[in-house]
Amino acid sequence: MWLVRHGLLPDRVSLNGRQSGRLRTLREALRALFGAYATGARPPADALDALNAALAAAPATPRLAWSADGPRRDDVPDTGNPAAAAFSLLAEDAADLLTGADAARLAECAAQGCARWFLRSHGARRRCTTQCGNRVRAARAYAARKGTSP
Ligand SMILES: [Zn+2]
Repeated sequence: MWLVRHGLLPDRVSLNGRQSGRLRTLREALRALFGAYATGARPPADALDALNAALAAAPATPRLAWSADGPRRDDVPDTGNPAAAAFSLLAEDAADLLTGADAARLAECAAQGCARWFLRSHGARRRCTTQCGNRVRAARAYAARKGTSP
């Protein structure tokens, strides 16, 4: 599961049908927003609405914690609704990303069959993970072998 893989949702939380539907909607919205950002277009209104709905559904409560190391912001997630809280967190990450300095590094994976967005660590990077890079290289090598052998 995408959210669990990204550490946003504890494993013990299982999504019911409506929540998985919401997650799908949110994921599609993020893809649309990232795509719009990457192409300099305005995003579809429903994508923006979906992100804002997730932001508002179960926002974390901001808190100021103070330890021996000094003050620290310590947002407390809404534990009453873990799935919605995870969606809110995800939406907040996306909003921070799109409005922050890292937005310029957003890129869509160029590997065939992969639809992930990632942050480029360097300008030439075009694949989200080394697995995707290896997959592309293997496919290229296979195609080259097939092309040269009779
Ligand atoms: Zn990929």
